[in-house]
Amino acid sequence: MNIILLGAQGSGKGTLAKRIKADFGLVPISTGDLFRQSIANGQPLGLEAKKYMDRGELVPLDLTLKILTERIKLGDCAKGVILDGFPRSIEQAEALKKVLKIYSVICLELSKEQCMERMLARRICPKCGATYSTLLGDGDTCTKCGVSLVRRDDDNPDAIKTRLEVYEKMTTPLINFYSDRLLKVSADVSPEEVYKPVKDFLSKLGGKK
Ligand code: AMP
Repeated sequence: MNIILLGAQGSGKGTLAKRIKADFGLVPISTGDLFRQSIANGQPLGLEAKKYMDRGELVPLDLTLKILTERIKLGDCAKGVILDGFPRSIEQAEALKKVLKIYSVICLELSKEQCMERMLARRICPKCGATYSTLLGDGDTCTKCGVSLVRRDDDNPDAIKTRLEVYEKMTTPLINFYSDRLLKVSADVSPEEVYKPVKDFLSKLGGKK
């Protein structure tokens, strides 16, 4: 069973994906994380993608599809995947049809202002990639690695503004594109409350492929 998480940056897709993984064994795949790993490893694909990421723009389709399909080919995706951050446009959704059958799409809804506030408060561990938030009173070191937390390069006001505009223009049309298999969930509540309707929904779908 493959599912897509839609929702603007900061709406909590990564947190939701971890919970779905724990209960349903689906593998979260975040194209943003794949690009960041590629950059950290100094790979040419990542370095090319970084030019777009730093400006908050979408990375071109050929690079994005390449990094995604290479990840899906790895042996751990047999039970299904949770796509976080892909597709982000109708063009990508059309391309995805040739790669994976998508069973359902969960859309997290949050206002632009709250997304902005959450992204500005986001801190990450440069070593393990764990995410923290000053809004939740998190400290400034990673509780697992003990290293100082940093801001993502693209969590700055200019890039955030562009990313939210790109989401509105390019990604929100996917809500109609997937209207036959969509669950909309308000993200303006605690992670537990976000997860509850999602868990009920996925439990009803069971182990469908
Ligand atoms: P994210 O971690 O999902 O916020 O993604 C960070 C950045 O990676 C985005 O602002 C884009 O520059 C790039 N990116 C991630 N996923 C995609 C995608 N599906 N298509 C194009 N660019 C992407």
